[in-house]
Order: sequence, then C-alpha cells, then structure tokens
Amino acid sequence: MAGKPCIITVAITGSVPTKKDNPAVPVTVAEHIESTHASYEAGASLAHIHVRNDDGTVSSNPDRFAAVGEGIRKHCPGMIIQFSTGGRSGTGSERGGMLHHRPDMASLSTGSCNFPLRIYENHPDLIKELASKMIQYDIKPEIEAFDVSMMYQAVMMSEAGMLKKPLHVQFVLGVKNALPCIRQVLDFQVAELKRLQPEATWTAAGIAKHQLECNHWALEMGGHCRTGLEDNIRFEKTELAKSNAQFVKRVADLCAKYDRPVATAKQAREILGLRAA
Ligand code: ZN
Repeated sequence: MAGKPCIITVAITGSVPTKKDNPAVPVTVAEHIESTHASYEAGASLAHIHVRNDDGTVSSNPDRFAAVGEGIRKHCPGMIIQFSTGGRSGTGSERGGMLHHRPDMASLSTGSCNFPLRIYENHPDLIKELASKMIQYDIKPEIEAFDVSMMYQAVMMSEAGMLKKPLHVQFVLGVKNALPCIRQVLDFQVAELKRLQPEATWTAAGIAKHQLECNHWALEMGGHCRTGLEDNIRFEKTELAKSNAQFVKRVADLCAKYDRPVATAKQAREILGLRAA
C-alpha cells in the first residue's frame, strides 16, 4: 500500500465528551472552526461535524451546522465537510434536517446496535429516508459500520440504487456493546467489502484507547484514518489530548512511517469521487 495517499478524517467534537472530560473539546461555533482549521493545517482533509449548543449539549440546529460549514469552507480551502446524521438518541427526520445545506458528505448508519448506555436506533425507514435525501442533495454518504451487518446492508442498498456507488465505509471498532477492536474483525470486513464492491474505499475508526491501534492497521492495509476528540480524549494513557490537531499530527507522522503520503484536500476529493470545492 506504499505510496497510496491517506485521507485523515478529524472528528472534532462528537456528542459525548464534555469540556469537563477535556477542556479542548470544541463547543461553540468559533471553537469548532478554530479546531478544524488547526487540524487542517496538521494534515486533515475531511472534517466530521456534530454541533453543540453553547452550553455543550448536542444540537440538531441546521443553522449551527451551516455556520460551522461556512467557517470551514472559508478557512480551510477544499476541506471535505461531512455532517453527522447520528449522535442523538431516538429516531426521526430531524437527524437529516441540515442536509439541505449540502455538505460534501454525511454519515449514515445502515443498522442499529447497542452503544455503551443506549440503543443506537436506526429504523429501516429512517435509513431509507436519509439515504434518499443524500441522493437528492448530491451528498456522498460515509457508511458508519458499527456492526458487520451494516456493511452488507450498505452494499445491498447501493446495488439497489438507494446509495450511490462506490461506497465509502467507516469501520468503527471498540464501541462498548458493539464490535470489539480486534484485527481479525477489521480484516474480515475489509476483505468482504473488497469482494463485494472492489472500488469501495474505507476508513477505520478505533474508539478511545483503540484509536492509535486502528490508525496503524488502516495505514498498513491501505485504508484511511480517523482521529479526533469525538472518539478519544486521551493522547496517552494518562495524558489528555491538547487539541484535535495534536491527534492529526500524530497520524500524519505515522503516514510517513508507512510510506503513505498525507492526502491533500484535493486528492481526498478525487479519491472519494467528490465534486471539486
Ligand atoms: Zn460522529
């Protein structure tokens, strides 16, 4: 896989960690933009976005998504903007309420599973609704595969024309009560994705202490990497991360070790088949 550019995704805030957990977690719109900009400078080409209210609680306000997207577009030329349609409990159309702002990408979970403290519920009707909105607004989905079944479901949907081909799948490992972070689990899923849709691309995301381990595996296997405070608040076992950019720099440094150039935003767009910025 040497020589193949690696897209670094930064998941800057998510919905779980708070400023009490780590003061570097971005909360306000300005903090989102600043943290993403620093990550972009460190090598990230894709920003995975949730938004918060100023008190730190998760927001589903489409205007906030739009404000963060606008700031990133202005300060990080070409960076891929991906809005999350997950991250809140329950079901409902409001999870896709910001898609009319036409981010480059949006996350899409194609099944349900357990999370540490709740059911991550994705009703088949909601999945179809979000998928059709993504086609309507020309948004490339990133399939969030928290379970093996979700990748198969995504392949089925893309074969049926409900999702555009080729797929981009993110394999998420190490969520408590979902898939464990075991190399064979990733190997199997990647092999199956390649068998079923050879042109598909993929990223591996390891949660908490598994983040770095998954970065290594993805670089070795030819996949792409995700990092950031959404998934992990500690840089080392006992040391809190100082910023999202610190995580991104660590992955960028690792890329050199595996002879994987860090993808520029332009290259990342080409790899994922996205429109030019
Ligand atoms: Zn997320």
